[in-house]
Amino acid sequence: MSKGRRVKPMFSLSPALFRESAIAGRGVFARRRFEPGDVVVPYAPRQRRVDARSPEALAAAETKLTLLSEERTVIIPDTSVPGGWLCNHSCDPNSAIFSDGEGRIQCTRAISPGEEVTIFYGWVSHNEPGRDPCRCGAAGCRGFINFDLSDEDASHARVRPDNTVEMDDVLRGRLAEYGRFLHSIGQEQVKEAIAATLVRIKLRKPGSVVCAF
Ligand SMILES: [Zn+2]
Repeated sequence: MSKGRRVKPMFSLSPALFRESAIAGRGVFARRRFEPGDVVVPYAPRQRRVDARSPEALAAAETKLTLLSEERTVIIPDTSVPGGWLCNHSCDPNSAIFSDGEGRIQCTRAISPGEEVTIFYGWVSHNEPGRDPCRCGAAGCRGFINFDLSDEDASHARVRPDNTVEMDDVLRGRLAEYGRFLHSIGQEQVKEAIAATLVRIKLRKPGSVVCAF
């Protein structure tokens, strides 16, 4: 600080900053400390909710930025303005997306000022094992953002009439390891996406499903 010069106060109402990230593209960074349960940023300052079966929702799903929410609705973010939709994935995230009410990013593990705000994408792919390489830098990084299910995996599963999935020991063994990982980072809801993907592969159509492992 030099004498006689006006100093701009280092103060901002915004608790988060959007800038280039070492993980990928632009990311979200904390400007202050957050504790578990704190809302860090809205998913998007401008967002709207539409019916999940509408053509608009299906088209927007290609961006992978829509959030499936309660009562078969999806939240579509306005990406002309930065927001929580810019959060990068981490295999050891410090935040999570909530889509009940307003879509928002909430802290799940204390975040220090300057730290990147990360979430777990929970993407499940089919026959694309190397689709999304991960550069999150976490000690336990899985190497890929997506968890892939192959046709071979699906051959070890059977869909019951009630749309739940029955697996043999081979597939159960493979998923058990990932299940332990998901548990360790509090992301067990991804198991439902895995079960739903297995049903889609087996039935070749979208379907709702009850988590089965
Ligand atoms: Zn990672």
